[in-house]
Amino acid sequence: MNELTNERKNKVCPRCGAHFVCTHDAFCQCVGVQLNEKAREYLRTHYSDCLCRSCLEEIGRKLGD
Ligand SMILES: [Zn+2]
Ligand SMILES: [Zn+2]
Repeated sequence: MNELTNERKNKVCPRCGAHFVCTHDAFCQCVGVQLNEKAREYLRTHYSDCLCRSCLEEIGRKLGD
């Protein structure tokens, strides 16, 4: 019983409306974006789901150094 869940989750970014894929695992794009604590807290507060990569990077830039 070692079922591989390769299912991809198509989502719509709640911030900009772009379509993107989130797998919520180690390969999810949101994991690959470097965010500091401030940016992560902002995301937790404002959005219950992850955003598309460009929004994550934009927030990271805005709230980062
Ligand atoms: Zn977006
Ligand atoms: Zn994600």
